[in-house]
Amino acid sequence: MYPSLEDYYFKMGICPEVSQFASRIEKEIASKFKEIDENAQINQMKVIMAMQKENISESHLNGTTGYGYDDLGRDSLERVYAHIFHTEDALVRPQITCGTHALAIALFGNLRPGDELLSPCGKPYNTLEEIIGIRASKGSLAEYNITYRQVDLIDDQYFDWDKIRESIHQKTKLVTIQRSRGYATRDSFTIEEIRKLISFIKEIKPELMVMVDNCYGEFVEPLEPTDVGADMVVGSLIKNPGGGLAPLGGYLAGKADLIENAAYRLNSPGLGKEVGATLDINRKFYQGLFMAPLITANALKTVTLASALYEQLGYEVSPKACDKRTDIIQSISLKQAEAVIAFCQGIQKGSPIDAHVTPYPAPMPGYDCDVIMAAGAFVSGSSIELSADAPMKEPYQVYLQGGLTFEHGKLGLMQSIEKLLQEGIITKEMLYK
Ligand SMILES: *Cc1c(COP(=O)(O)O)cnc(C)c1O
Repeated sequence: MYPSLEDYYFKMGICPEVSQFASRIEKEIASKFKEIDENAQINQMKVIMAMQKENISESHLNGTTGYGYDDLGRDSLERVYAHIFHTEDALVRPQITCGTHALAIALFGNLRPGDELLSPCGKPYNTLEEIIGIRASKGSLAEYNITYRQVDLIDDQYFDWDKIRESIHQKTKLVTIQRSRGYATRDSFTIEEIRKLISFIKEIKPELMVMVDNCYGEFVEPLEPTDVGADMVVGSLIKNPGGGLAPLGGYLAGKADLIENAAYRLNSPGLGKEVGATLDINRKFYQGLFMAPLITANALKTVTLASALYEQLGYEVSPKACDKRTDIIQSISLKQAEAVIAFCQGIQKGSPIDAHVTPYPAPMPGYDCDVIMAAGAFVSGSSIELSADAPMKEPYQVYLQGGLTFEHGKLGLMQSIEKLLQEGIITKEMLYK
């Protein structure tokens, strides 16, 4: 007799009650998993079609050194991204250090002194505050006399159509829309909601540039923001489109002039997209992109299971397991500090890397309270890999994302429940309700 799955779980410290609970809930959400698989098939075809269209061959997987002129792999990969996002051009580079940097070059490249930037959906992601100058910072857009206006959501949920209309005037040049909730309490915006918002804005001022921060959203739906009117999407390669294999990088896809402006900002005026050696990165970018629809599906299954498990345990979850998703983020309100710590320590315990390390809350630059983070990742800071983090303050909300394989995601979730049991925060009876 060889060991069963439950035997393995038991050896890893998961009691039968917990593994049976997880497997029962997993069965209950089977129809949701089927939807996720169907979407992955669509996106996989989109990626393969784009690669075939560019006749990608082995020579594209090699890179260049020095200036990086005539980097066949890089230039073709950018056209592949442009096909996938249905845009004129794209910029996909290891020289883009992260999502924040990609957003920064998109903004600095396309705004000029006297222009105004508008966010019609509340405050943008934390790290954008210093780029824009919402929090004073050296080199911010504000220092270059680029102003910023923001329209908050009504009840943290609905677009304020009247205020948006009033906020678009002669100086307004670029609109930034964040698809994912990031670390805000609002829901993420679906592609359908983004479509409505963009068409409203373009009706008022058709020449406005609309940029969507697409972080965590790629391949979650069959359409992307550029399919519904966005002029440019921006994201990170250590999230969805890197497929867990890209060890760094960021991308922009959009109208040719916007991409060129961003490339001039990334490299130098005049040089633009012509330079930028790729060393040995092209193979990982191609293979990661090829894997990305499947990896995104695994992350979606992991967070959907998390949502169903923790709702069953009596916690408030967002989104719910049955809700339509547009990104890979799950928030769970754990109500007390001890529960947040136990949850994150459990997630860490299921990791392939650094499982022996125990995370604790600690101060973090840019935060007004301690933060706890769980991550056992192959790529440092990669959040397409299973990771959880939480600011240690009311309402003790933890954000969970990623999971390269659902099998690992499920283990991490079972470890988190096991930890909550050990700490006496939940009881075994709650697993049978
Ligand atoms: C991750 C993320 C970013 C960029 O973050 P980096 O850590 O710089 O890659 C921007 N916006 C949103 C919504 C994000 O999730």
